[in-house]
Amino acid sequence: MTATIIDGNAIAQRKRAEVADRVAALARSGITPGLAVVIVGEDPASQVYVRNKEKACAEVGIRSEKVELPEQTTQQELMAVVEQLSARSDIHGMLVQFPLPDHLDEDAVVEAIPVTKDVDGFHPESIGRLLVGKETLVSCTPAGVMAILEETGVDLKGNEVVVVGRSNNVGKPVALLCLAQHATVTQCHSRTRDLPGHVGLADVLIVAVGRPEMVKGEWIKEGAIVIDVGINRTEDGRLVGDVEFETAAERASAITPVPGGVGPMTVAMLMQNTVLAAERATGRPQ
Ligand code: NDP
Repeated sequence: MTATIIDGNAIAQRKRAEVADRVAALARSGITPGLAVVIVGEDPASQVYVRNKEKACAEVGIRSEKVELPEQTTQQELMAVVEQLSARSDIHGMLVQFPLPDHLDEDAVVEAIPVTKDVDGFHPESIGRLLVGKETLVSCTPAGVMAILEETGVDLKGNEVVVVGRSNNVGKPVALLCLAQHATVTQCHSRTRDLPGHVGLADVLIVAVGRPEMVKGEWIKEGAIVIDVGINRTEDGRLVGDVEFETAAERASAITPVPGGVGPMTVAMLMQNTVLAAERATGRPQ
């Protein structure tokens, strides 16, 4: 079998167009969704991520507000900024760009964000609500994985989904989302015995580990759908995923490339979460 290569850029573009339509509908009622992004310090990667978020906001019509704070900002100062943004009715979604400088407590910051504005979906209550099947904002990368799966047309009901990785921001929420769609979910991690054996059972394989090409193509079941969340830079400067792409593509029925697979979905889903938060806050249709 030769896999269909899933075009994450095209799916993300379609999602952004849907968001733009929803933003336009809100605008007809005089509402402009607002996203606040707080960045502390000068981390170059964070600066790039924040710029991309601002650009995406501008493209879909979301008003973005960047709050830049110096590296030496104290916990108290940062918490005060979060509190002020939390109280504003024109800010429907907010996030603090991670990683924060070492002296700042990320957990305390996340927990200070109101769940209704938690567009990153990192608040423990947001994750808890996902666990028990209540309305919430789902973190962007797992939501992006689910949007990709939806586009493939696969019905997860009864299917074997294997998730490799159990991080709070990707592995665990994506497993919960698949479970909610009635998949039989296996979660693998660094202590899993016989990883190839588990991977070989997957109808849908989702890998979020952060180790270049760790999952070998030969482990994968013929016809499986493979979603590779990993983004790794090799010594020769290439970007590769957690899955050995060429060999996996010979066995899978569909596979996400790196780059151009899950990556572009994350910002698109942030836009979707922001418009959803604005719709919920203002009682508009969702
Ligand atoms: P974490 O480092 O938080 O988690 C990695 C997970 O992989 C852990 O659960 C760990 O297990 C597991 N793991 C590590 N080694 C092995 C192994 N040998 N066998 C099986 N499991 C293993 O990473 P993230 O979840 O945050 O990110 C994973 C990847 O996804 C990274 O490459 C990251 O860059 C990428 N990413 C991409 C995004 C995007 O596309 N926009 C967004 C977020 C992440 P254990 O718990 O036992 O330690």
